[in-house]
Amino acid sequence: VAKNSHTGVRVYTSDDDRNSPRRLAMVADLREAIQRRDLVVVFQPKLSTATGLVVGAEALARWHHPVHGFVPPDEFIPLAEHSGLIRPLTLHVLEVSLRRCASWRRMGHDMHVAVNLSPNSLQEHDLPDIVERLLGQAGVPASALTLEITESSIMADPTGALVILDRLHALGVKLAIDDFGTGYSSLGRLRELPIHEMKIDRSFVQRIAVDHRDRAVVRSAVQLGHALDLMVVAEGVEDEETLLHLRREGCNLVQGYYISKPLPADEFADWLTARVP
Ligand code: C2E
Ligand code: CA
Ligand code: CA
Ligand code: CA
Repeated sequence: VAKNSHTGVRVYTSDDDRNSPRRLAMVADLREAIQRRDLVVVFQPKLSTATGLVVGAEALARWHHPVHGFVPPDEFIPLAEHSGLIRPLTLHVLEVSLRRCASWRRMGHDMHVAVNLSPNSLQEHDLPDIVERLLGQAGVPASALTLEITESSIMADPTGALVILDRLHALGVKLAIDDFGTGYSSLGRLRELPIHEMKIDRSFVQRIAVDHRDRAVVRSAVQLGHALDLMVVAEGVEDEETLLHLRREGCNLVQGYYISKPLPADEFADWLTARVP
Protein backbone atom coordinates (compact mmCIF):
# COMPACT_ATOMS: atom_id res chain seq x y z
CA VAL A 1 0.00 0.00 0.00
CA ALA A 2 1.45 3.33 -1.07
CA LYS A 3 2.00 6.20 1.33
CA ASN A 4 -0.08 9.33 1.16
CA SER A 5 1.08 12.57 2.73
CA HIS A 6 -2.36 13.44 4.11
CA THR A 7 -3.72 10.19 5.43
CA GLY A 8 -0.65 8.00 5.66
CA VAL A 9 -2.22 5.31 3.52
CA ARG A 10 -3.57 5.39 0.03
CA VAL A 11 -7.06 3.99 -0.11
CA TYR A 12 -6.60 2.76 -3.62
CA THR A 13 -3.95 3.23 -6.25
CA SER A 14 -4.39 4.26 -9.82
CA ASP A 15 -3.06 0.92 -11.01
CA ASP A 16 -5.72 -0.90 -9.04
CA ASP A 17 -7.97 -2.88 -11.29
CA ARG A 18 -11.03 -0.89 -12.40
CA ASN A 19 -13.23 -3.40 -10.61
CA SER A 20 -11.11 -4.12 -7.57
CA PRO A 21 -13.28 -4.39 -4.43
CA ARG A 22 -11.37 -1.53 -2.82
CA ARG A 23 -11.96 0.77 -5.74
CA LEU A 24 -15.64 -0.15 -6.09
CA ALA A 25 -16.14 0.51 -2.38
CA MET A 26 -14.59 3.97 -2.79
CA VAL A 27 -16.85 4.72 -5.75
CA ALA A 28 -19.90 3.73 -3.69
CA ASP A 29 -18.73 5.95 -0.80
CA LEU A 30 -18.11 8.87 -3.13
CA ARG A 31 -21.56 8.47 -4.69
CA GLU A 32 -23.08 8.58 -1.23
CA ALA A 33 -21.01 11.62 -0.22
CA ILE A 34 -22.25 13.51 -3.27
CA GLN A 35 -25.88 12.47 -2.71
CA ARG A 36 -25.76 13.48 0.94
CA ARG A 37 -23.98 16.70 0.01
CA ASP A 38 -21.07 15.69 2.23
CA LEU A 39 -18.53 17.01 -0.23
CA VAL A 40 -17.21 20.28 1.09
CA VAL A 41 -16.22 23.23 -1.06
CA VAL A 42 -13.34 25.44 0.06
CA PHE A 43 -12.41 28.81 -1.43
CA GLN A 44 -9.04 30.34 -2.24
CA PRO A 45 -8.83 34.09 -2.87
CA LYS A 46 -7.56 35.61 -6.11
CA LEU A 47 -5.82 38.92 -5.59
CA SER A 48 -5.10 41.78 -7.99
CA THR A 49 -1.36 42.56 -8.08
CA ALA A 50 -2.11 46.16 -9.07
CA THR A 51 -4.59 47.05 -6.33
CA GLY A 52 -4.08 44.33 -3.72
CA LEU A 53 -7.84 43.79 -3.75
CA VAL A 54 -9.52 40.39 -3.67
CA VAL A 55 -11.39 40.01 -6.94
CA GLY A 56 -12.65 36.48 -6.60
CA ALA A 57 -12.13 32.98 -5.29
CA GLU A 58 -11.51 29.53 -6.73
CA ALA A 59 -13.76 26.75 -5.46
CA LEU A 60 -12.01 23.48 -4.64
CA ALA A 61 -13.74 20.26 -3.60
CA ARG A 62 -12.81 18.44 -0.39
CA TRP A 63 -13.82 14.95 0.70
CA HIS A 64 -13.49 13.70 4.26
CA HIS A 65 -14.05 9.99 4.05
CA PRO A 66 -15.75 8.62 7.20
CA VAL A 67 -13.10 5.91 7.61
CA HIS A 68 -10.08 6.90 5.52
CA GLY A 69 -10.13 10.60 6.42
CA PHE A 70 -9.08 13.29 3.97
CA VAL A 71 -8.89 12.02 0.40
CA PRO A 72 -7.09 14.50 -1.89
CA PRO A 73 -8.89 15.77 -5.03
CA ASP A 74 -6.08 14.37 -7.16
CA GLU A 75 -7.45 10.97 -6.12
CA PHE A 76 -11.21 11.40 -5.98
CA ILE A 77 -11.63 13.62 -9.04
CA PRO A 78 -10.16 10.97 -11.39
CA LEU A 79 -12.25 8.37 -9.55
CA ALA A 80 -15.38 10.46 -10.19
CA GLU A 81 -14.38 10.99 -13.82
CA HIS A 82 -14.09 7.26 -14.40
CA SER A 83 -17.25 6.23 -12.64
CA GLY A 84 -19.91 8.58 -13.97
CA LEU A 85 -19.89 10.72 -10.82
CA ILE A 86 -18.16 13.80 -12.15
CA ARG A 87 -21.37 15.33 -13.46
CA PRO A 88 -23.24 15.30 -10.11
CA LEU A 89 -20.01 16.34 -8.36
CA THR A 90 -19.50 19.31 -10.68
CA LEU A 91 -23.12 20.42 -10.36
CA HIS A 92 -22.87 20.21 -6.56
CA VAL A 93 -19.71 22.35 -6.53
CA LEU A 94 -21.29 24.83 -8.96
CA GLU A 95 -24.45 25.17 -6.92
CA VAL A 96 -22.63 25.65 -3.61
CA SER A 97 -20.15 28.08 -5.16
CA LEU A 98 -22.82 30.27 -6.74
CA ARG A 99 -24.79 30.39 -3.51
CA ARG A 100 -21.67 31.50 -1.63
CA CYS A 101 -20.78 34.01 -4.30
CA ALA A 102 -24.27 35.48 -3.99
CA SER A 103 -23.77 35.93 -0.24
CA TRP A 104 -20.37 37.65 -0.64
CA ARG A 105 -21.95 39.97 -3.17
CA ARG A 106 -24.80 40.73 -0.76
CA MET A 107 -22.11 41.58 1.82
CA GLY A 108 -20.96 44.23 -0.66
CA HIS A 109 -17.94 42.44 -2.14
CA ASP A 110 -17.82 42.66 -5.91
CA MET A 111 -16.50 39.13 -6.34
CA HIS A 112 -16.45 36.37 -8.89
CA VAL A 113 -16.21 32.66 -8.20
CA ALA A 114 -14.23 30.16 -10.29
CA VAL A 115 -15.24 26.51 -10.63
CA ASN A 116 -13.14 23.74 -12.18
CA LEU A 117 -14.61 21.70 -15.02
CA SER A 118 -13.49 18.20 -15.94
CA PRO A 119 -12.89 17.24 -19.57
CA ASN A 120 -16.17 15.26 -19.56
CA SER A 121 -18.15 18.43 -18.89
CA LEU A 122 -17.15 19.80 -22.28
CA GLN A 123 -18.95 16.87 -23.90
CA GLU A 124 -22.24 17.59 -22.14
CA HIS A 125 -24.46 19.62 -24.38
CA ASP A 126 -26.88 20.64 -21.65
CA LEU A 127 -24.11 22.24 -19.56
CA PRO A 128 -24.84 25.84 -20.71
CA ASP A 129 -28.55 25.44 -19.89
CA ILE A 130 -27.77 24.05 -16.45
CA VAL A 131 -25.29 26.83 -15.75
CA GLU A 132 -27.85 29.41 -16.81
CA ARG A 133 -30.46 27.90 -14.50
CA LEU A 134 -28.08 27.74 -11.52
CA LEU A 135 -27.02 31.36 -12.07
CA GLY A 136 -30.68 32.39 -12.09
CA GLN A 137 -31.44 30.40 -8.94
CA ALA A 138 -28.51 31.93 -7.05
CA GLY A 139 -29.14 35.42 -8.42
CA VAL A 140 -25.54 35.80 -9.60
CA PRO A 141 -24.73 37.59 -12.88
CA ALA A 142 -23.10 35.34 -15.47
CA SER A 143 -20.07 37.64 -15.54
CA ALA A 144 -19.36 36.73 -11.90
CA LEU A 145 -18.78 33.07 -12.79
CA THR A 146 -15.51 31.79 -14.21
CA LEU A 147 -15.23 28.21 -15.42
CA GLU A 148 -11.70 26.78 -15.42
CA ILE A 149 -10.86 24.30 -18.15
CA THR A 150 -7.62 22.64 -19.14
CA GLU A 151 -6.05 22.49 -22.56
CA SER A 152 -6.37 18.71 -22.62
CA SER A 153 -10.11 18.88 -22.03
CA ILE A 154 -10.51 20.73 -25.31
CA MET A 155 -8.22 18.42 -27.23
CA ALA A 156 -10.47 15.39 -26.70
CA ASP A 157 -13.12 16.82 -29.05
CA PRO A 158 -12.18 20.37 -30.07
CA THR A 159 -15.22 20.99 -32.28
CA GLY A 160 -17.75 19.76 -29.74
CA ALA A 161 -16.02 21.59 -26.89
CA LEU A 162 -15.95 24.82 -28.86
CA VAL A 163 -19.74 24.72 -29.38
CA ILE A 164 -20.26 24.45 -25.62
CA LEU A 165 -17.64 27.09 -24.80
CA ASP A 166 -19.20 29.51 -27.29
CA ARG A 167 -22.61 29.05 -25.68
CA LEU A 168 -21.18 29.61 -22.19
CA HIS A 169 -19.40 32.70 -23.49
CA ALA A 170 -22.65 33.95 -25.04
CA LEU A 171 -24.30 33.67 -21.61
CA GLY A 172 -21.62 36.02 -20.30
CA VAL A 173 -19.77 33.37 -18.28
CA LYS A 174 -15.97 33.81 -18.25
CA LEU A 175 -13.61 31.01 -19.20
CA ALA A 176 -10.10 30.37 -17.93
CA ILE A 177 -7.40 28.07 -19.25
CA ASP A 178 -6.07 26.26 -16.19
CA ASP A 179 -2.59 24.80 -15.65
CA PHE A 180 -1.29 26.75 -18.64
CA GLY A 181 1.98 25.38 -19.93
CA THR A 182 1.51 21.81 -18.76
CA GLY A 183 -0.50 20.50 -21.72
CA TYR A 184 0.26 20.28 -25.38
CA SER A 185 -1.35 23.56 -26.20
CA SER A 186 -1.71 24.56 -29.75
CA LEU A 187 -1.12 28.28 -29.64
CA GLY A 188 -3.38 28.60 -32.67
CA ARG A 189 -6.22 27.01 -30.77
CA LEU A 190 -5.70 29.30 -27.79
CA ARG A 191 -6.36 32.23 -30.08
CA GLU A 192 -9.65 30.69 -31.29
CA LEU A 193 -11.10 30.03 -27.86
CA PRO A 194 -13.51 32.51 -26.24
CA ILE A 195 -11.35 32.70 -23.10
CA HIS A 196 -10.87 35.54 -20.68
CA GLU A 197 -8.11 34.30 -18.42
CA MET A 198 -4.89 32.29 -18.48
CA LYS A 199 -3.69 30.57 -15.31
CA ILE A 200 0.03 29.83 -15.30
CA ASP A 201 0.68 26.50 -13.63
CA ARG A 202 2.35 26.66 -10.26
CA SER A 203 5.23 24.43 -11.44
CA PHE A 204 6.48 27.45 -13.42
CA VAL A 205 5.69 30.02 -10.75
CA GLN A 206 7.12 28.53 -7.60
CA ARG A 207 10.82 29.02 -8.32
CA ILE A 208 10.84 32.33 -10.17
CA ALA A 209 12.49 34.12 -7.27
CA VAL A 210 15.50 31.78 -7.46
CA ASP A 211 15.60 30.53 -11.06
CA HIS A 212 16.03 32.97 -13.94
CA ARG A 213 14.90 30.33 -16.47
CA ASP A 214 11.56 29.91 -14.72
CA ARG A 215 11.33 33.69 -14.63
CA ALA A 216 11.85 33.80 -18.41
CA VAL A 217 9.12 31.20 -18.94
CA VAL A 218 6.66 33.13 -16.79
CA ARG A 219 7.59 36.39 -18.48
CA SER A 220 6.80 35.00 -21.92
CA ALA A 221 3.57 33.41 -20.72
CA VAL A 222 2.46 36.80 -19.35
CA GLN A 223 3.40 38.47 -22.63
CA LEU A 224 1.52 35.88 -24.65
CA GLY A 225 -1.53 36.22 -22.41
CA HIS A 226 -1.54 39.99 -22.74
CA ALA A 227 -1.01 39.82 -26.51
CA LEU A 228 -4.20 37.74 -26.61
CA ASP A 229 -6.02 40.23 -24.32
CA LEU A 230 -6.25 37.75 -21.47
CA MET A 231 -6.10 38.31 -17.75
CA VAL A 232 -3.04 36.44 -16.52
CA VAL A 233 -3.18 34.63 -13.19
CA ALA A 234 -0.27 32.97 -11.39
CA GLU A 235 -1.05 30.08 -9.06
CA GLY A 236 1.06 28.64 -6.25
CA VAL A 237 2.44 31.94 -4.88
CA GLU A 238 4.02 30.95 -1.57
CA ASP A 239 6.14 33.98 -0.60
CA GLU A 240 6.38 37.73 -0.93
CA GLU A 241 9.38 37.68 -3.24
CA THR A 242 7.50 35.60 -5.78
CA LEU A 243 4.57 38.00 -5.56
CA LEU A 244 6.87 40.99 -6.17
CA HIS A 245 8.39 39.32 -9.24
CA LEU A 246 4.92 38.57 -10.61
CA ARG A 247 3.80 42.15 -10.10
CA ARG A 248 6.91 43.39 -11.88
CA GLU A 249 6.23 41.04 -14.80
CA GLY A 250 2.72 42.48 -15.09
CA CYS A 251 0.87 39.37 -14.03
CA ASN A 252 -2.69 40.53 -13.22
CA LEU A 253 -3.85 38.19 -10.49
CA VAL A 254 -2.19 35.90 -7.96
CA GLN A 255 -3.33 32.96 -5.94
CA GLY A 256 -1.43 30.90 -3.38
CA TYR A 257 -0.66 30.02 0.21
CA TYR A 258 1.16 33.35 0.70
CA ILE A 259 -2.20 35.10 0.31
CA SER A 260 -4.33 32.35 1.81
CA LYS A 261 -4.89 28.63 1.76
CA PRO A 262 -8.26 27.49 0.46
CA LEU A 263 -10.72 28.16 3.31
CA PRO A 264 -14.10 26.73 4.32
CA ALA A 265 -16.88 29.10 3.25
CA ASP A 266 -17.53 30.65 6.67
CA GLU A 267 -13.83 31.25 7.33
CA PHE A 268 -13.50 32.69 3.85
CA ALA A 269 -16.29 35.20 4.56
CA ASP A 270 -14.57 36.21 7.83
CA TRP A 271 -11.22 36.52 6.06
CA LEU A 272 -12.84 38.72 3.43
CA THR A 273 -14.50 40.96 6.01
CA ALA A 274 -11.27 41.34 8.00
CA ARG A 275 -9.36 42.23 4.86
CA VAL A 276 -11.93 44.48 3.20
CA PRO A 277 -13.97 45.99 6.03
P1 C2E B 1 -6.05 23.19 -9.65
O1 C2E B 1 -7.34 23.54 -10.30
O2 C2E B 1 -4.80 23.55 -10.38
O3 C2E B 1 -6.10 23.85 -8.21
C1 C2E B 1 -5.01 24.44 -7.58
C2 C2E B 1 -4.40 23.51 -6.56
O4 C2E B 1 -3.25 24.12 -6.00
C3 C2E B 1 -5.33 23.20 -5.39
O5 C2E B 1 -5.05 21.86 -4.97
C4 C2E B 1 -4.84 24.19 -4.33
O6 C2E B 1 -5.16 23.81 -3.02
C5 C2E B 1 -3.36 24.16 -4.58
N1 C2E B 1 -2.65 25.36 -4.14
C6 C2E B 1 -3.13 26.62 -4.02
N2 C2E B 1 -2.17 27.47 -3.62
C7 C2E B 1 -1.05 26.75 -3.50
C8 C2E B 1 0.30 27.08 -3.10
O7 C2E B 1 0.65 28.23 -2.81
N3 C2E B 1 1.19 26.07 -3.09
C9 C2E B 1 0.87 24.79 -3.43
N4 C2E B 1 1.80 23.86 -3.37
N5 C2E B 1 -0.40 24.44 -3.79
C10 C2E B 1 -1.34 25.42 -3.83
P2 C2E B 1 -6.21 20.85 -4.60
O8 C2E B 1 -7.32 21.58 -3.89
O9 C2E B 1 -5.56 19.68 -3.93
O10 C2E B 1 -6.79 20.42 -5.99
C11 C2E B 1 -6.01 19.69 -6.90
C12 C2E B 1 -6.66 19.60 -8.25
O11 C2E B 1 -7.89 18.85 -8.16
C13 C2E B 1 -7.10 20.97 -8.79
O12 C2E B 1 -5.97 21.59 -9.38
C14 C2E B 1 -8.15 20.57 -9.78
O13 C2E B 1 -7.56 20.14 -10.98
C15 C2E B 1 -8.79 19.37 -9.09
N6 C2E B 1 -10.03 19.80 -8.42
C16 C2E B 1 -10.24 20.28 -7.17
N7 C2E B 1 -11.54 20.55 -6.95
C17 C2E B 1 -12.19 20.24 -8.11
C18 C2E B 1 -13.57 20.29 -8.54
O14 C2E B 1 -14.48 20.73 -7.82
N8 C2E B 1 -13.83 19.86 -9.82
C19 C2E B 1 -12.85 19.41 -10.65
N9 C2E B 1 -13.20 19.00 -11.88
N10 C2E B 1 -11.55 19.35 -10.29
C20 C2E B 1 -11.23 19.77 -9.04
CA1 CA C 1 -8.17 25.35 -11.19
CA1 CA D 1 -4.43 25.19 -11.86
CA1 CA E 1 -3.40 21.74 -11.25
